[in-house]
Amino acid sequence: MYKKLFIPGPTHVREKILQAQAEPMIGHRSQEYADLQADVTPKLQKMLYTEQRVYLYASSSTGVMEGSVRQASTKKVLNTACGAFSKRWHQITAANGVPCHKIEVPMGQAITPELVDEALSQDDYDAITLVMNETSTGLLNPVADIAALVHAKYPDVLILVDAVSCMAGEKIEFDTWGLDVCLAGVQKCFALPAGLTVCAVSDRARERSQQVPNHGYYFSYAQMDKRYEKHQTPATPAISLIQALNAQMDDILAEGLERHWERHKEMAAYVQDWARRHFALYSDENYLSNTVTNVENTRDISVADLNKELGKRGAMISNGYGDLKEKCFRIAHMGDLTLDDLKWLTGQIEDILGL
Ligand SMILES: *Cc1c(COP(=O)(O)O)cnc(C)c1O
Repeated sequence: MYKKLFIPGPTHVREKILQAQAEPMIGHRSQEYADLQADVTPKLQKMLYTEQRVYLYASSSTGVMEGSVRQASTKKVLNTACGAFSKRWHQITAANGVPCHKIEVPMGQAITPELVDEALSQDDYDAITLVMNETSTGLLNPVADIAALVHAKYPDVLILVDAVSCMAGEKIEFDTWGLDVCLAGVQKCFALPAGLTVCAVSDRARERSQQVPNHGYYFSYAQMDKRYEKHQTPATPAISLIQALNAQMDDILAEGLERHWERHKEMAAYVQDWARRHFALYSDENYLSNTVTNVENTRDISVADLNKELGKRGAMISNGYGDLKEKCFRIAHMGDLTLDDLKWLTGQIEDILGL
């Protein structure tokens, strides 16, 4: 049976978007393709409030996380960890032989400007990694405030942001905040099938990249730039997904960006309130995510059984991530889900559990 996905990626994809991928194939060196990339890129720049470059990579987000740390630093990278995905960026940095150090807070807590200040003052860093929305805990880090601190006190430090589970669901003012890299796979808030990653890159990050020897080929900004002005990519792009992305961006912009951000806040407030009434919220109340809620399983229910029952009714939620399995469950409220969808879902959960 078809299950509507309330998991934090991949998310529910509308029929119209599935159909947008079914266009006849076009050559990636044809004018039709260049027109497509030229059409979609300004829409992404508008959504990210940036006039700098936005690249499209045929890759999941993890590939671009790797590519970005490989070309960010000639000194040392500070990795900040507050959950599974931010920890992973440290593993990726280390696995590529890039000198790095990790600071970590317990799960459910945020990375703060104070913590970053203290850490950056200890060594000669020239880049920092941040996960904006930590999907494993349902927590939104104060990226704008951290970026302001970094610019004020550590002007050489590039700011790399994994916004995988909040780009297109949360306002990100790339230029005003002064971010250097901000990336997201499209299978989360963009509500597209998986396989494409959107990545905004600042001019200064592109300059830094030139100074980093052996920074790789596939994700290299210099390689992307060889084709950027022709509205092409060096390797074959994910053409069908870019067609779907173009259709989705039209709908996001037609909804209106402010209304779009507001819809996510409304859904988040509803789910958070429901979780407080029937369970508890896992993460620090001051930093709750607007795209995914991590509910603490205070009633000791079987999350696996609940999900099995939900499956019979056409829905799927996520168990807790890693060590939080069965201790928590996660409800995503991102992409094309609506407040009515969330009301229906919580109604089903109440019915199944007899709440
Ligand atoms: C899902 C997720 C990733 C991994 O993305 P892939 O597209 O599967 O590579 C990384 N970071 C965060 C915050 C995520 O939510």
